[in-house]
Amino acid sequence: MTPTATLPAQTVDEIVVRAGRPDFDRWIEQVTRCGHCSRPVRLRGRIEHRSATGRQLAYSTDTEPDRVLLIRCGNRRAAACPSCSYEYAGDMWQLLYAGAAGGRKGVPESIRSHPLVFATLTAPGFGPVHTTRTDRSGPARCRPVHGTPRLCQHGRPTWCTAIHAEDDPRLGQPICPDCYDYPGHIAFNWHAPELWRRFTIAVRRALARAAGLTAAEFARRCRVSFVKVAEFQRRGVVHFHALIRLDGPGEDYQPPQLSIDAAGLADAIRHAAAHVRLTVEMPDGSGLVLRFGEQLDTQTVNGGQAEELTPEHAARYIAKYATKSAEDFGLGDRRISPETLPLLDVSDHAQRLVRQAWQLGEHEAYDGLRRWVHMLGFRGHFASKSRRYSITLGAIRGERRAYRQRQADEHVRELAADEQDTTLIVARWEFAGLGYLTTGDTALALSAAARAREQRQIAKEERAVA
Ligand SMILES: [Zn+2]
Ligand SMILES: [Zn+2]
Ligand SMILES: [Zn+2]
Repeated sequence: MTPTATLPAQTVDEIVVRAGRPDFDRWIEQVTRCGHCSRPVRLRGRIEHRSATGRQLAYSTDTEPDRVLLIRCGNRRAAACPSCSYEYAGDMWQLLYAGAAGGRKGVPESIRSHPLVFATLTAPGFGPVHTTRTDRSGPARCRPVHGTPRLCQHGRPTWCTAIHAEDDPRLGQPICPDCYDYPGHIAFNWHAPELWRRFTIAVRRALARAAGLTAAEFARRCRVSFVKVAEFQRRGVVHFHALIRLDGPGEDYQPPQLSIDAAGLADAIRHAAAHVRLTVEMPDGSGLVLRFGEQLDTQTVNGGQAEELTPEHAARYIAKYATKSAEDFGLGDRRISPETLPLLDVSDHAQRLVRQAWQLGEHEAYDGLRRWVHMLGFRGHFASKSRRYSITLGAIRGERRAYRQRQADEHVRELAADEQDTTLIVARWEFAGLGYLTTGDTALALSAAARAREQRQIAKEERAVA
């Protein structure tokens, strides 16, 4: 727990008041039940049983602490709520793993024999930025001088001899912001979904060519299924992590009717990523050719080779990225404008990106961009999949809701055990607010979360020893 000495006096008072209340244990129980959510929804309401013999109150928040029930906020962003984002990542993992390993969620185990590749597609460079590098001897200098040291046209060094630590705020910031191509950067984020779409078409073409088939023949024998997540790199540009799989043409996860293995699929992905282009119009009337960066990573999954990824690892890797977002830039998840920018504590680079996005949004070809300034122009979904990859996130969350509903129903039935099963259960809820009531409550919830983590860790270590 945070030493109370570092907390403001008022917060300490609030903690003392909460802990001294007779319903404190029940309050802690609620905090635990909503998974130590950082900003739970407060609900007020009641559940009634209605039957032929009349109504009976089964549950009411009137007897709960502060007369409310705490429910998870469900935010997927780790910066907004670590607990709920873990839950989201867990759901994501289920979806990804089902599609990679099969044998669950309606996906047959035979899916493991389908060619499957884990690919990372990056953005190209828009100007040198501070970065971490390693060479054979370990951490290396950011941008060493090659030949004669040269200043850029703005009189700034074009090199950086620092070895940046992982938490160095300079990481991702341009070496010279005036040399950096801000319009190109925002244009890439804005058009990235279309570039991805073209990439998927290019993969199909490359596969058809490798198999010696026409596009129509290929479509009759093979379907390219994928799930992808977008991640913001430190410099504020999106890149994609994806699991790409070959299936048969039907709806039932049959193998593709092609003799292409995972290595062949990886070749097609590399070829498509290197060659796909999108020409877009810039405000000055010039054309800008967008493409993916040269850094491209493909790894085959499933085949049992030593250097391959397991389905577990591939699923975990992508699920982790699904919880990150532009919030890492301190921009939050609301719309912003240059006027509200000074209120946010963000880097000079992030500020320039926001201003650039706002400026581009003025032009017809970038209509709507101003709504996506907080995402630095990226309007795509953070996680998306083709229809047949596996079941949907909504279905998994629905299962979870159904499970919770059943639990709640059981809880209610226990409370009124004499009632028949034909009883109608009527629940009425109203929204009472968001988040904990006081800073003291938040501090208590956080410390309870830390304690729970510690206990889980101790239990894990004990199991490992035993
Ligand atoms: Zn939450
Ligand atoms: Zn540097
Ligand atoms: Zn410069």
